Amino acid sequence: PSPLGPTPKLVIDLERLQQLPKDKAGPLARYAATIQSQRGDYNGKVLSIRQEDLRSLAVIYDKSPTELTEELIGWGVLDPEARRAVEAF
Ligand code: C2E
Ligand code: C2E
Ligand code: C2E
Repeated sequence: PSPLGPTPKLVIDLERLQQLPKDKAGPLARYAATIQSQRGDYNGKVLSIRQEDLRSLAVIYDKSPTELTEELIGWGVLDPEARRAVEAF
């Protein structure tokens, strides 16, 4: 096991996501809304997503998972801890 503890979860800050310009956040916002709808999980301030979902999102944004993670951390949508989740890929 890692000395830093278990692999952190990818947790999207939905309130921050809503504040971002649509041209940046649009695809992620639609993806998150789809997951919320599939789960019936509408009331959260955050949304835990699958590691696999970050791979799909990276394809959508035409970036590597690492690059997308850095962008989302820069936007304040992901916690910097998320870097360790993506290292596990
Ligand atoms: P599914 O993938 O067949 O999962 C069925 C149920 O198994 C889910 O119902 C959930 O209760 C549980 N489950 C599956 N994987 C996980 C997991 O990693 N963590 C947790 N906590 N539970 C898990 P639920 O939540 O009602 O989701 C229904 C369906 O919606 C899922 O069926 C899947 O097709 C889709 N879905 C929901 N959330 C996600 C997501 O974050 N990513 C993707 N790709 N699909 C999702
Ligand atoms: P956690 O995973 O650290 O999540 C802390 C809190 O963040 C949750 O408190 C909830 O308010 C919010 N949160 C995180 N991910 C989501 C999400 O995808 N949707 C929504 N609506 N809120 C989210 P909560 O619900 O009281 O859960 C407390 C703890 O219980 C969680 O800590 C986790 O350890 C466990 N837990 C809750 N649901 C699940 C689950 O589906 N799977 C697993 N494995 N643990 C769960
Ligand atoms: P979690 O529920 O704490 O699950 C942590 C990891 O355990 C998941 O990472 C996945 O690798 C595995 N896992 C948990 N439940 C299942 C399951 O039913 N089937 C399979 N095949 N694996 C499972 P992952 O996929 O990266 O998901 C991260 C977090 O995203 C989950 O943490 C949960 O909070 C959320 N999540 C993912 N998929 C679903 C889903 O379908 N429904 C709900 N409600 N939450 C989900």
